[in-house]
Amino acid sequence: MAYDRNNIFAKILRGEIPCYKVYEDDNVLAFMDVMPQSDGHTLIIPKYEAENIFQLPVGELQTLIAATQHIAIAARKAFNADGITLMQFNGESSGQTVFHIHFHVVPRYDGKPMAMHARGMADKTVLEKHAELLKQALNA
Ligand code: AMP
Repeated sequence: MAYDRNNIFAKILRGEIPCYKVYEDDNVLAFMDVMPQSDGHTLIIPKYEAENIFQLPVGELQTLIAATQHIAIAARKAFNADGITLMQFNGESSGQTVFHIHFHVVPRYDGKPMAMHARGMADKTVLEKHAELLKQALNA
């Protein structure tokens, strides 16, 4: 399928809709997931237009996974996480709901199961607070 430039992450990249941004460079953007599966759930997307791993050149993937590691390290620190789950879906059958490739960084806490995928919208103030904590850890 051809990349759809009207997907929600493409609109975030173009600045047409807002996001809780935590990190940006020439190649990637990272922001809080608005329907977090745990406290601190963050998404990392490339600026390159690709729907999934099958469309992303390997160099772009390397840049994306390096940025994902960067966010995962900071998220573990920012949220005192016991672990970090990474997720990345390709195609509707796999559970992908937004068709611009992305990695999920999901902080995990002992004894706390992960919430359902893309269900409840989090409180704005909580998302702002989590974005701030993560930015501080990234800048430390
Ligand atoms: P996936 O199912 O892997 O495509 O995941 C898409 C993710 O994007 C889900 O976890 C959603 O909660 C999240 N999401 C959808 N819209 C937005 C948005 N406007 N800002 C931040 N996260 C979003």
